[in-house]
This record gives sequence, structure tokens and C-alpha cells, in this order.
Amino acid sequence: MASSPTHTSHTLSTQATTTPVDLDASKLIITLAEQLKPVPPASELRFGQYMTDHILVASYDPVKGWSAPEIKPYGPFTLDPASSCFQYATSAFEGMKAYMGPDGEPRLFRPEKNAARFARSAGRVWLPKFNPDEFLKLLKALVMVEKRWVPTERGHSLYLRPMIVGTRASMGLSLSDSALLWVMCAPTGPYPSAPVRPLSLLAGDGVRAWPGGTGEHKISINYGPALGPHQVALDRGYDQTLWLFGDKITEAGVMNLFVALRRDDGGVDLLTPPLDGTILPGVTRDSILALAAAHPSRITLPGLSPSLQIHPAERVLTMPELETWLAQGRVLEVFAVGTAVIVVPIGRIGYMGKDIMLPAYEGARGLGPVGKALYERITDIQDGLFEWEGWSVSCA
Ligand SMILES: *Cc1c(COP(=O)(O)O)cnc(C)c1O
Repeated sequence: MASSPTHTSHTLSTQATTTPVDLDASKLIITLAEQLKPVPPASELRFGQYMTDHILVASYDPVKGWSAPEIKPYGPFTLDPASSCFQYATSAFEGMKAYMGPDGEPRLFRPEKNAARFARSAGRVWLPKFNPDEFLKLLKALVMVEKRWVPTERGHSLYLRPMIVGTRASMGLSLSDSALLWVMCAPTGPYPSAPVRPLSLLAGDGVRAWPGGTGEHKISINYGPALGPHQVALDRGYDQTLWLFGDKITEAGVMNLFVALRRDDGGVDLLTPPLDGTILPGVTRDSILALAAAHPSRITLPGLSPSLQIHPAERVLTMPELETWLAQGRVLEVFAVGTAVIVVPIGRIGYMGKDIMLPAYEGARGLGPVGKALYERITDIQDGLFEWEGWSVSCA
């Protein structure tokens, strides 16, 4: 969508005298809450439970375009029951975090990647377009308003949940030409909370995503149906679902999965499934691949030998292969990654009626050497303690 009503040569439409306006951060209206909530102590934080004082909201109207965005007190919405999102799941979201930097200013981690993915996800359910750069400016403004909610304790952060939903009020199945976009924030502690132990996964019967499907987008419709298999995993004593497609390994819960293998030449293969449409293109996944490729030529990852070569690769992984590699003693570690957990070790996989045990490590978070090195480097970058390629962006 054009951001200004410039006239182009297309004159097919007679009533299109104005172009709907794009999201515009310079029009932001801020109304602060009169009463501020007490910030709970860091030790009491449960993921996504305490909403902060304010919310960022903008709405789209098919004629006028995007409204002036507003930061206003957090509270309920009123929506028409016929809204497209309720009936047809025209709904997309994001998950990101603001970290308190050493300069006392909140920072975001590679937020332009989330903003671009948010716009792509919204496009997959045909919601109105918006300029991701303007969205990012608004997001930073919201974090600055909520600065007192950004925890200073290490491993803690302010979780941000952007959403966009279709609000066209009609039972007819057609694209939603109206939408509501918002961002809510919740302070959060580390996941899993202490004591940290490796996660167990149950490879169930459910399929999360399939070729030609929507698995690569963060759209709400991918998540509701995953709750059943997740509950089955919990009931059977596992933490998360291991999503398979046939015998292909795809993801773990809402995390991307990595397998580190010892090579004959002393190096390590770091493998993750390719972005074939069934895998959510995680920002953490991308960062892990990039950092692993940079060791040791461009950076030395903490605790790893500068002579260790890591060979990151995106390739199909199957359960029979994993079992073969385990039998050969080649598996160094298996871990899952995502914004919420950063890097978390996997200790056990329930598969075809038996438990496959993965290598276990003592000490911090139960991570193996590669996962630990990546976890430490990423969290240092996120917290603004290690500068790397402009990944950490100040909101100030
Ligand atoms: C959000 C998400 C991830 C992790 O993505 P990040 O950008 O690293 O947080 C992985 N898998 C699924 C299915 C997801 O929804």
C-alpha cells in the first residue's frame, strides 16, 4: 500500500479519490493510565500472566486506512460478534522480548525480523498491509512507555505480544478489509523456571504442519489445534510435543530443534530441518545458525575451543537417523530454541512406545557444550553486553 495519496496512472476506479493511509508512527497518540499497577517481584513472574499498564492499538478501515496509532491504558475491546477473526481465524501474532541494557535503556533483539514476519503472517490470512518499519517505531515507543516493567534481573525480560485480527463484521466468507492491530506486554522470567532440567518430548500422532500448509506462518490457526497433542504429552509425563511429519523431525512444541553430531574430523555438525514450509522461521533459529557459522573464524563462542569447527546445516532429520546416530555414539546434544526459552536441552523423546534417552549434561541449564556456548553468547547480545552485527537495538 502506498503511504501517501500520490496519484498514479491507474484510473480504473471512479470512487478511489483517496488512497487508504499506511500505519504512521508520527501520528502516535499517547494517553497514560491514571493509576499504575504494582510491578510484581521478579521471583513471582509467570509467563504471560501480568499485563502491563498500557497497550498499543491501531485499526484499519477500508476507506480511511490505518487510524492514528494509540498507546492507552490496557483494557478490554468491544468487537462485533460477526468479526472475521472469530469465525474464520483471520488472526496473526508475534512473540518477542525487551531486555534491559547496561545503559538502563530497554533493547530489542533483531526486531526487524519479527516486524517483517508479522507483516508476512498477516498477509497469509489476507489482512490489510502495514509498513513494518512504522510498526517497529511504535513498538519501541510502547516499550519506552512501559520501561519500568522491563525487569533488570538477568534471564528476565518484558515479553511483547503483537497481534492483528480481522474485524470485518459479516458471516460471508471473504477477506477482512477491516482489522485491529495491538501489542500487549507482560514481564517474564526464565523458562523453564528453576530448577532447570532437560525437557522431555513426546512424538505423538498429531501433525502440526504439512507441505503446502501454513506452518511457516505465525497465524493463530496453527496453534489451537496443537493444544490437544500438547495436553496428551503433559498427561503422559512429557513437557512438550515433538512434531513429526511421517518420520521427519520438524519442531518441538513452539520451538525449532537442533541436533549436534560429532564428526570424524573432530568438528561438530549442527543440524536443523530446512525451511520447507512446515517449519516456523524462528529468529532464534536463524541467530543460532549464524553464530555457529561465525565460530571460530569471526567470534569464539564461550567455552568452546577456537580450534573446534562447527558446521551448521539445514537438512532433513528423521527419527530412524537420530536412533542410528545415538547407537553410533555420535550425538553430542539435542536442543530446542525460541524467543521464550532461548536454548533449552532435550533429554528424552517418547517415540513408538519407548523412551529414547539423549546425552545428559551436568551444570547450568543441563545444556551440552555447543548449546551452552550459543545460549551464553545470544543472551549476552540480547542484554546488550556483547555487540554483534547490530542485533541488539536500543528502544531509546
Ligand atoms: C515462534 C515459534 C518458534 C520460535 O521462533 P522465534 O522467532 O525464535 O521465537 C518456533 N516454532 C514455532 C512453531 C513458533 O511459533
